[in-house]
Order: sequence, then C-alpha cells, then structure tokens
Amino acid sequence: MQTAPQRFRTLSPWLRERFGRPVHRVSLDAGSTCPNRDGTKGFGGCTYCDIEGSGTGALKDGDGLEEQLQSGIARIARRKKRPTDPDSGVIAYLQSYTNTYVEGGRFAEVLDIIRRYIAMPDSPIVALSVATRPDCLPDETVRVLEDLKKETEIWVELGLESANDQVLFDINRLHTLEEFEDATARLRQAGVLTVGHAILGLPGDGREGARGTAAALAKSGVEGVKVHNLMVLEKTQMAHQWRKGELEVPSAQEYLSLLADFVERLAPDQVLHRITGDAPEAKQLAPRWDVPKNAIRELLETELESRGTSQGCLAAI
Ligand code: SF4
Repeated sequence: MQTAPQRFRTLSPWLRERFGRPVHRVSLDAGSTCPNRDGTKGFGGCTYCDIEGSGTGALKDGDGLEEQLQSGIARIARRKKRPTDPDSGVIAYLQSYTNTYVEGGRFAEVLDIIRRYIAMPDSPIVALSVATRPDCLPDETVRVLEDLKKETEIWVELGLESANDQVLFDINRLHTLEEFEDATARLRQAGVLTVGHAILGLPGDGREGARGTAAALAKSGVEGVKVHNLMVLEKTQMAHQWRKGELEVPSAQEYLSLLADFVERLAPDQVLHRITGDAPEAKQLAPRWDVPKNAIRELLETELESRGTSQGCLAAI
C-alpha cells in the first residue's frame, strides 16, 4: 500500500476520510460554452485552451448528459474487484467549458438531471463538482448551488491560473484576481467548497508568479488546489506560438522547483487535488518530459525533503 506523503496534502486520503469509501469522478460535458469564445468577454478562448474547452467533448460526439452519467457510473461500478469491496462513490464533474455560463434555464435543466440521479435509491453520487470561471458566478447561481447542498455536497472549481492580472490578460483569460477573490468569498459564505486552479510556467509569470499565485490561493481560503505545468496542446493559440519558437515551457526540473515554491506558500490544510496535467498524449505538443507524470509526486516529496520544507511553511496567512 502507498504511504501518504508527509510534506504536502493529497486528495486520496482526504476523500477517504470525508466519504469513508473510494470515490471517483465522472467527467461530464453539459453543452456549455464560454464567454471567452463567444465574444462576450473575448474570442478564441484562453491561449492554452483547446477547442473542447478543457473537457471531454462528449456532447459534441452525441452522448447526452444522462448517457454520460449512466455510463460513467457503470464504469466505476465495474472497478470493484471482489463482492466484499465497498461500493465506490461518484463525483459528478461538470468539466467542459464554463458550466455556469449557459443560456436561460439550461443550468437548472442540467442540475435537474443530476438531481434525479442523486435521488435514486443507493445513488453512488456523493458530490457534484462544477468547473467555471470566477466572473461567471452571479449571486443567483451561488444561491442555486447553496440550495443544492441539501441534496449533495457541492464543489466549485474556479480557474485562477495566475494571480498576475497582466499575465491573465496576455493569455486571454480576461478576468482578474479581484474577480477570483470576490467569487471565492461569496462561495465560502454560501458554504460551498471551492477548488482553485493554477498553471505554473505561464509566459511572463516565472518564479515570482508561482509564489504569488500560491499566496493568493492561500489568502482566498479555497479548500482545494489543482496545479499543473504549462502544456501546449494541439488546436490552441499557444500551439502557433510554440511552433514559431515564441513560447517556452518548463522542463520537469524547472516545474518541480516552481511547484515546491508554490506548495511552500499554500496554506497547510489546503488539499492538492492535482499536481500534474492530464492532457491526452496525442494532443500534447510540449513538454515531452522523460520523467513520467506519476513520478512527480515522489519527486516533489524529495525536493521538499532536500529543502527541509513542507506545505505551508512559507504561507503568509
Ligand atoms: S480555459 Fe475555460 S475560460 Fe478559458 S477558453 Fe477554455 S473553457 Fe473558456
């Protein structure tokens, strides 16, 4: 059995403690779009985001939301090796695009479908996780999510990516740190768990950026953090920049060093949901590390050990 890292908090032990059984995510594409693609905020999307909006593209491929949920739940049930193993819990994960940025009643429609599954006898759903942008969370949406808390646990995943507004502008995120802080404060008040996203190695961000983003996440009080290295994917604006030699991505060693700086500045109790990217190999142009992604966790442990530090040791909170 894998021993839990001592120097930073990871997701699996936290999930086991919280739900008392194995828990897996079912990624869902609810047909949302994004204000950064339809012209409301901007066109073309964030420069690193591919055409599927960092998601599965399942709806475009003809799978309705119910179908995706059903097949995801069945897939997770099949993971059970012995009849005596505990049934796994499921986190319904609205992943693709900006899930709270939808027309008219579509968000309510999506939530109703998920609600029906939550209400089923022996439903495996233990939480609903909603990925969105910090500038797409009006008070009304926060109230809807707060209300849904009576039926299941709610998480909101908010992209911050960098705490530097100039970097956010340059990568065409087109929201600000202040909007992230405002959204997280309102979610905290509503008792909704929040997970903040960060990308290390964005152009112009560097080491100070990694440190500043960790400090902003610590200050915001988000319960969870997802962080990964800058990756260049096919069908993105960054792919053009990278092909023209205008963009560098961190090597594995550089990323580990940024990541250690980042982790040292998070709050000690924030849970790291992810510390590497998970783009499909075929879509990823760069980086091409000779270090397997699953080794990063161990290498981070070693890096922190060699520094004599741990998560939160440099947190300014
Ligand atoms: S990363 Fe999110 S906000 Fe940016 S273009 Fe993709 S879906 Fe939109």
